[in-house]
Amino acid sequence: MAIRNVRREGDPILRKISKEVKEITPKIRVLIDDMLETMYEKNGVGLAAPQVGVLKRIVVIDVGDGPVVMINPRIVREEGSQTGDEGCLSVPGKAGQVTRPNEVTVRYMDENEEYYELDGTELLARAICHECEHLDGKLYLDLVEGELRDVTEEEDEEES
Ligand code: ZN
Repeated sequence: MAIRNVRREGDPILRKISKEVKEITPKIRVLIDDMLETMYEKNGVGLAAPQVGVLKRIVVIDVGDGPVVMINPRIVREEGSQTGDEGCLSVPGKAGQVTRPNEVTVRYMDENEEYYELDGTELLARAICHECEHLDGKLYLDLVEGELRDVTEEEDEEES
């Protein structure tokens, strides 16, 4: 496993649309392992493949309940709303208020090509929305209400 370089806002790759994964190759498995390692190293709660420069529809999330690997994720239900702080490993040291659904259902495949449907609420719902948007070239900055603010290291742990 290896820590990958996280692309920062301004890098054009973050604005591109990622491609569906058709087959889980050894290279994809290495990518997933590296994404998990990179997310933990940077204290993020999620990471999307385009953030490490790979335009494939893969995200990893861990909101404290263990890692979830989502390949070709698709949000099929959204309910309610929540407004709260959000950050992004591609926009280090910043946070801003974003309104998201309070509950989502997402369908995805894991690295063993098994299909799942997962219900997420609160932080997990927020992370799922944030990461899935990365796959479509969107950043939370597009949705921020009001000003971005600076955050200190200690507060930095909910970045994705
Ligand atoms: Zn992000």
